[in-house]
Formats: sequence, structure tokens, C-alpha cells
Amino acid sequence: MPATFGGLAREHGARHIPVMTEILRCEVAIVGGGMTGLALAAALGVDGVDTVVVDRMPADLPPSSNADPRVTAVALGSVRFLESIGAFAAMRATAAPILDIRVAEAHSPFAVHYDHRDVGDEPLGYIVENANIRDSLIARCRELPAVRLLMPQAYVDVARDPRGATVSLADGRQLRAKLLVAADGKFSRLRERFGIRTRSWAYGQTGIVATLGHELPHDGLAYETFFPDGPFAVLPMRGDRSSIVWALEDELAGAVLALPAEAFEAEVQDRIGDRLGRLSLASPVKSFPMVLKWAERFTVERAALVGDAARGIHPIAGQGWNLALRDAAALAEIVAGAHRLGLDVGSAKALARYERWRRFDALALVAITDGINRLFANDVTALRLARNLGFALVDQVPPLKQLFMRHAMGVMGDLPRRMRPAEARMRA
Ligand SMILES: Cc1cc2nc3c(=O)[nH]c(=O)nc-3n(C[C@H](O)[C@H](O)[C@H](O)COP(=O)(O)OP(=O)(O)OC[C@H]3O[C@@H](n4cnc5c(N)ncnc54)[C@H](O)[C@@H]3O)c2cc1C
Repeated sequence: MPATFGGLAREHGARHIPVMTEILRCEVAIVGGGMTGLALAAALGVDGVDTVVVDRMPADLPPSSNADPRVTAVALGSVRFLESIGAFAAMRATAAPILDIRVAEAHSPFAVHYDHRDVGDEPLGYIVENANIRDSLIARCRELPAVRLLMPQAYVDVARDPRGATVSLADGRQLRAKLLVAADGKFSRLRERFGIRTRSWAYGQTGIVATLGHELPHDGLAYETFFPDGPFAVLPMRGDRSSIVWALEDELAGAVLALPAEAFEAEVQDRIGDRLGRLSLASPVKSFPMVLKWAERFTVERAALVGDAARGIHPIAGQGWNLALRDAAALAEIVAGAHRLGLDVGSAKALARYERWRRFDALALVAITDGINRLFANDVTALRLARNLGFALVDQVPPLKQLFMRHAMGVMGDLPRRMRPAEARMRA
């Protein structure tokens, strides 16, 4: 991938001295090397699409005692995608299979119980540590000659024209691409720069995340319990460890976060009960604001949004990154198809296809997660009754239950090729 030099003039004293600006050329430039940007880069790299990723964070983060304790519930459809781009083998080392999911309202006898055996032999998904997802994707990108990682690297500006996009980097170089992808997260600056408006909703909730060690095994069981003050999820990790994601109203969350470790453990023990034996904190306790962000469009001329930059949802259903991977898989499929035929990978036609493909799916999940949170955040008796009836109904009607399970497993809808089962992939 040769760098070319364009002439620029810079004032130096009284004379104009030509200064060379190094221009890195590629087909796709991705700004944001988080879990979504890296997954997209690996998918493009596997198909030989010349791709550059820019992120302000270094690729190799020093091990830190204050590390991010977040984990991600990776649904089956996402596992297929990650396997097909050669990135899941390394994640499997720390992944814990989800064999069973129980969703219930606190202090209610009704619950929905999703057993993986109801829909086949495979686990419903895996719980993987975010740090491991990132490391595995970086390692995979480094193996692919078509992918270049500029990390750490900041950008100072972007410009788009009918033929491509230019990213001016902080080190003075320029990146010239046919397609620019914004993967810079929920508060995307690029999205703003493109003039794409967002709809936002602050839930007034904070998500508290921590890893717990426990005496008894979890048997691959994930729990989501709806307490009157917010949803509380317990996710099985490797070994006798679980991750909690606990959404609480901001003020209450502030008080919980201020608790000393022992008092925090006691609060958590009270919610989980005795089924895991005695619990103890095995990570720092971190918090995340719960904000819904929804971009009014996912594309503009020569650019596309993916992942949280396109939409950031409530983590209640553990679906944010799974949706993001569907963006990445869909965009990679469109771009790789154009690349194979020698067509323009950032054409208006390619972008229109991406916009059509992803918009409905994303909108449906925003509505579902937002709706669930509102339904359960309300303690009106009629709503409580409806919730319990809903649980009983879903649990007792197998086709309905399987429909919900297949949706949560990310194996429904108009799936990108790499998310389909291997035999369907061969036929497509
Ligand atoms: C508590 C919690 C639990 C969750 N659990 C789940 C789950 O179980 N399952 C699930 O599917 N999803 C889950 N999610 C959602 C999931 O974490 C997100 O959807 C996912 O992290 C989005 O990744 P991203 O790469 O799109 O964005 P980000 O992770 O925000 O990455 C953005 C990247 O862009 C870089 N960047 C930003 N600005 C610039 C700039 N100006 N220049 C250069 N680089 C820049 C950043 O450094 C970062 O690396 C959860 C979220 C939360 C908060």
C-alpha cells in the first residue's frame, strides 16, 4: 500500500516552502477502533479490502488494576460471524457458555425459562470479557495484510466529496478512502460532523457493573430479575465467577456506588439470594450512564455509521454489540461484494443498500429495549399483572417462547451471510 505525497505550501518566514503531506490511501477508513470498528476491519480484511482503523487509544493497553469489568453476552448469530472472520477462537478461551436464561419479576412466582435444549444443541450464546474481545480482534486484524491499525492516532478533521473522504490525522498525514466509517461510539463526533441529528433519551438510570466470585457453580445460568427500582442481571463467567449489570435510578446508584466493598457485597447478596453461595467482589465496581441515542440516518455521501455511533440502546436485553455486529456484517458484505466486482465500495448505491438493510432491525430493537425498561420501571398493579401474565404466557406457549429465544440468539430476520448457519452460508 504505497503512500503518495501531495504538495502543500506552508508559510515559513518570508518564503513559501513546499511541504509534503503524506497521504495514506485505502478503500475503507474506520474512525473508532472499539469492538465494532475492529470487528468490521477484520471482516473487511478477510475479504482483502484495504482498510485503515484510526483510534485515539493504543492497540496494546497496559494491564491495569482498575480495568473495565464489562462483559458482553454474545448471541449465537454473532458467534457465527466472529467465527467466520477467524476471531472467535481466541475469545473462546475466556468465554462462558449460556445454557439457560431465567427472566422474572422480583417476588413473583412467574418466570420465563429459556433452556438451550429447547432450540438445539448449541449454547444460547457466550459471556465474553470486553477486554478479551478487544484483544482478540486486534490480534486478528494484525494477522490480516489488508488491515492497518493506526492506534493511537487522533484525527483533526474530515472532509467528504463525491469521490471519497479525507481524514486529516493529528500527526500531519492524511487518509484518503472511498468510504469513511464512523465507529466512534454513542457520543460520536463524526456523526455530528456529518450533520446527522440524533434522538436521545436519558433514562435517569445508571448501570452498575462488577465481577463477583462465588462459592457455588452457576451451571451456565443467566438471570435477569426486574426489581421495582430497576433490572438486575447476573451473567455466568468462566470459573466460579459472575458479572452483574444493575440498573438503578441515578440518585440510588450514587448511594450504592459510595458503599464500602462489604456493604456492596451484602446488597448484592440480598438480591441474588443463596443460590451461588457466599459472594465477594472480584473487580472494581464501575458505572455507566444509561442513555438512548438514535441517529436519524445511518449514511451520508461517502460515509456510514456503525455500532453505538448509529444507535446506543439500554443494556437491558444485552443486545447493543449484537446489533452492532449486524451492522458490521451487513456493511462488510456490501463492501466486499463491490470490491470483488471492482466496483466503488462507497457508492451511493452501496450506502443506500446498507441504510435500508439496517434501519428496520435497529429501530425494532430500540423500541423493544426501551419498551421493556418502561414496562418494568412501573409498579402500577395493572402493569404488574400484565407482566406476570406475559411471563406465564411466554413460558407455557412453546412456539412463542422459541420465537423469543431465536430473537435473543440473533438468528432471526434478514441476516448477513456470515451470521447464518454454515450450511446456509454455503448455499447463499
Ligand atoms: C453496562 C453495559 C453492559 C452491556 N452489555 C452488553 C451485552 O451483554 N451484550 C451486548 O451485545 N451489548 C452490551 N452492551 C453494549 C455494548 O457494550 C456496546 O454496544 C459496544 O461496546 C459498542 O461498541 P462500539 O465499538 O460501537 O463503541 P465504543 O465501545 O464506544 O467504541 C468507540 C471507539 O471509538 C474511539 N473514539 C471515539 N472518539 C474518537 C476520536 N475522536 N478519535 C479516535 N477514536 C475515537 C474510542 O476510543 C473507542 O475505542 C452493554 C453496554 C453497557 C454500558
